Amino acid sequence: MNTVLSVENLSTYFKTDKGIAKAVENVSFSLNKGEMLGLIGESGCGKTTVAQSILRLIEYPGKVVSGRVLLNGRDLIKASEKELSSLRWKEISVIPQSAMNALNPIFTIGDQIMESILLHENVSKREALQRTKTLLELVGIDGERWRSYPHEFSGGMKQRVAIAMALACNPKLVISDESTTGLDVLTQAQVIALIKSLQKKMDLSVILISHDLPMVTAICDKIAIMYAGNIVEWASTGDLLKNARHPYSQALLNASPDLGNPEKEVVSIPGSVPNLVNFPNSCRFHTRCPYAFDKCRQEIPEFKEIKNGHYTACFLEEEGNHG
Ligand code: SF4
Repeated sequence: MNTVLSVENLSTYFKTDKGIAKAVENVSFSLNKGEMLGLIGESGCGKTTVAQSILRLIEYPGKVVSGRVLLNGRDLIKASEKELSSLRWKEISVIPQSAMNALNPIFTIGDQIMESILLHENVSKREALQRTKTLLELVGIDGERWRSYPHEFSGGMKQRVAIAMALACNPKLVISDESTTGLDVLTQAQVIALIKSLQKKMDLSVILISHDLPMVTAICDKIAIMYAGNIVEWASTGDLLKNARHPYSQALLNASPDLGNPEKEVVSIPGSVPNLVNFPNSCRFHTRCPYAFDKCRQEIPEFKEIKNGHYTACFLEEEGNHG
């Protein structure tokens, strides 16, 4: 397996009036060529901050305070702005949360895709237009509609244009950041199916950020579960479904409907996500965890491998603690 992205002990903090919010703390995971990883968790758990940290898009009062983000061996955290701009779009790109905001209403969609190509590659306008038409076809839109303006498209079609833009310069890695937000359920399913088919066709590595666990388990090879700024478990989808180890992962699975079993009882997770400003050194799930014991309130559990490729951070993994 060929590692495309390796995120190592990434921490991103935000300064607030009340203190430091450790929005992302010690996050580690990796992604192989042609693999799809689902990054999942409740709203506000830090998924988008992880994506923005990888892309180096964190702005003041936020800051990546430690860690490495190796894209094909190059550390994006240390890269110069010039290096970064040569890597964005060509090596790594993003399908944003809302295509409505990503597309400029006063330019045709063709002009906007062409601009991405012309800005990053040394090709003629004619070639950029040809590629734009091919990209539109690839995402299921008639290539001749390159002359259309965003307002002439439905939400689902605009999202397809955003996908075409993300693929404009043939990146190896694409981050899809809740890219079906605001679409109806049927259109969401179509957009996700499109991302999956493009990932296979183009052998792309994809990070799919979502809070929709059933969808992620249906299409991703691996899943990383985030809670309050930490990844608490990272495993292959099969392993996670069969043998989720972290109490939060178990609770999240219990709280999600099962598409194959409509009878399943859905149990919501009691309590709420803690405030991360000045959060004490402890397991961040201890305020909601039914198994919490003294050590959980006083120390941070280490994120470590418990079985081939299955990682978690919970003191229950220590000898003698599992019931
Ligand atoms: Fe629960 Fe403790 Fe494990 Fe945290 S470390 S998930 S509080 S048992």
